[in-house]
Amino acid sequence: MDVPARLFRAVLVGIAVSCLTWVSAVAATPVPNLKDARLAGSYRFERGGWTYVHLQGTPQQIGFQHGYLLAPEIADYAHVLKVETKHNTHRDWQFYREAGRTILWPHVDSEYQKELQGIAAGVAARGVNLDLWDIVAMNGEEELADYYIPWLDRNSHAANAYPEPKAPGKCSAFIATGSYTKDGKIVIAHSNWSSYAEGERWVIVFDIQPTHGHRILMDGLPGFIDSGDDFGINDAGIMITETTISQFIGWNSNGIPEFARARKAMQYASSIDDYIAIMRKGNNGGYANDWLIGDRKTGEIAYLELGLKHVSVWHKKDGYFISSNFARDPALIRDETDGFDATDKSSSPNARRIRWEQLMRANKGKIDVPMAEQFLGDHYDTFLHEEKADQRSLCGHVDQAPEGVAVWGHGPYYPDGAVQGKATDSDMAAKMSFVARAGHPCGENFYAKPFLAAHPEYDWMKPILKDMIAGPWTVFHSGEQK
Ligand SMILES: [Zn+2]
Repeated sequence: MDVPARLFRAVLVGIAVSCLTWVSAVAATPVPNLKDARLAGSYRFERGGWTYVHLQGTPQQIGFQHGYLLAPEIADYAHVLKVETKHNTHRDWQFYREAGRTILWPHVDSEYQKELQGIAAGVAARGVNLDLWDIVAMNGEEELADYYIPWLDRNSHAANAYPEPKAPGKCSAFIATGSYTKDGKIVIAHSNWSSYAEGERWVIVFDIQPTHGHRILMDGLPGFIDSGDDFGINDAGIMITETTISQFIGWNSNGIPEFARARKAMQYASSIDDYIAIMRKGNNGGYANDWLIGDRKTGEIAYLELGLKHVSVWHKKDGYFISSNFARDPALIRDETDGFDATDKSSSPNARRIRWEQLMRANKGKIDVPMAEQFLGDHYDTFLHEEKADQRSLCGHVDQAPEGVAVWGHGPYYPDGAVQGKATDSDMAAKMSFVARAGHPCGENFYAKPFLAAHPEYDWMKPILKDMIAGPWTVFHSGEQK
């Protein structure tokens, strides 16, 4: 075979292999047909690397449908969290179950207690060996691992031989309105930054039609009652997302878990002020975020920086807010972060902040959803002044960063970064719709085998790390059938 023919064949084989991988990645276990009134009206289907679930009814029904339809995915994700928490926080899963039962559960509204019980009943009906405290621990894992445990260690003055877990840097996001967008209405977009083991499973689209409150369309994780990375819209016109506050320290065990507040705000907020009030009430400090909130009814956008000691809110009817894991308020940075340096241009949050500002200003008056998709896949590193997919690009590829990101506890080449992206605008939100891409928003694939071969220090991830194959940008809307 001559060289071009060999190349051609190699390309064909490559395409075939990636297609096969993609098909197998989305192939779902068929859901057994169970005659149970609690399942009435619910269904699931797969598209573009995502699994769409429609849930409706009372909290018990929504929970049971969730647990039953996603039982294999919930079992798989529980395994991921058990492996990650054991390695990263040196606590076994029993610690999380116990903390979920004693610290989180008493502060969860009865509506969501019933939904969590429903999820446990649903997975049990599929023969999955997880109980209520596993489901509560899963929902609370992020806030327990990276907020409660560091607080516990500091307050008990634990002689901890291990590096302390740290508040993570999760996500890149913007919201724009008025003279910044093409049609003058709101555009909102978000990429989820997570470990690849988590992110390649963060591909559920939840269409929830509850008996009380607003209808919700959001992305999420199997077994979780809130979005987790927090991208969603409701039928009262509220559009939300967030990114975490890097190096945040603070926790209140008597507060309401973040996952419960986030779900309640999504379900019950009819205005920006409602959303902010629900997030603030009983704040436990867990998963402290900068929230981007829009109301398509008014075109107004807002930014909520939710610390425990310091809370700031900004509103705009014309303009934008960007977010990439940096706090804005100097008082919050001083009192509630572990020394976040807002002047260090080599840091991921600050480098992405500069890039967001560049993109917003350069595209004033032109921003729409297709442009938002491009922004989420952007690879410009403003510190190096070059196109380079790494820890500083809006589409994060920490696995390609020799430095890792120490302030988030990520060593060199840690397999973490942008794992999926979503965008919507006011008109799409009016139809309860958004567009989403599974995998890196730029469309690049991640392959676990060569990565693990090159980085044996991450061998411990072998049981949970799989290929992360990018799907196409895919539109979803509430109530759609297969
Ligand atoms: Zn990328």
